[in-house]
Amino acid sequence: MQLLEERIRRDGIVKPGNVLKVDSFLNHQMDVELFQEMGKEFRKLFPSEKINKILTIEASGIGIACITAQFFNAPVVFAKKSQSINLDGEQYTTKIESFTHKRVYDVIVAKKFLGKDDHVLIIDDFLANGCAVAGLIDLVSSAGAVIEGVGIAIEKGFQEGGKLLRRKGIRVESLAIVESMDAETGEITFR
Ligand code: 5GP
Repeated sequence: MQLLEERIRRDGIVKPGNVLKVDSFLNHQMDVELFQEMGKEFRKLFPSEKINKILTIEASGIGIACITAQFFNAPVVFAKKSQSINLDGEQYTTKIESFTHKRVYDVIVAKKFLGKDDHVLIIDDFLANGCAVAGLIDLVSSAGAVIEGVGIAIEKGFQEGGKLLRRKGIRVESLAIVESMDAETGEITFR
């Protein structure tokens, strides 16, 4: 998506450790007009009428998921990072290792918000090694729901997540795929 690539080139900052900072428009301050265009694009990429739920993970996926959901007339469920798992059986749980914080979180979704009749589109801001998306897929599987696809704002194509998911036959569509980025020069190339 050209608009997003241009914005990443203009305002993205490459940090050491393969981290792309886009907090001026994507995941701290949020450019809602850009999100609208991204939402429209996700709808074009996932035209299936079956999609009835958008699933993301807190915190930075929520904004994009909410704007996107308007184009699907579907509610958004966000998986919550939880300090203590409540073992009352009322929630699906999984573990996700955070790419940016290098720690493992327990992540939960209440059973009442995800079930076997759901056709789920997973949305997130970044795809790196694929841990976050793999955890969300695990929650969808636990619920017996159907994964219709995965929509990502920015995929870092030089990391393994996209390849691993696509190899499993999951439909992954990323609006911008970064091919390479250099923390010293700040140069970013796209696939
Ligand atoms: P993964 O689980 O695919 O390794 O990483 C995806 C998650 O880590 C995303 O939910 C995102 O919040 C965060 N993340 C991964 N790479 C980056 C990055 O380069 N920049 C930012 N801002 N977040 C990232």
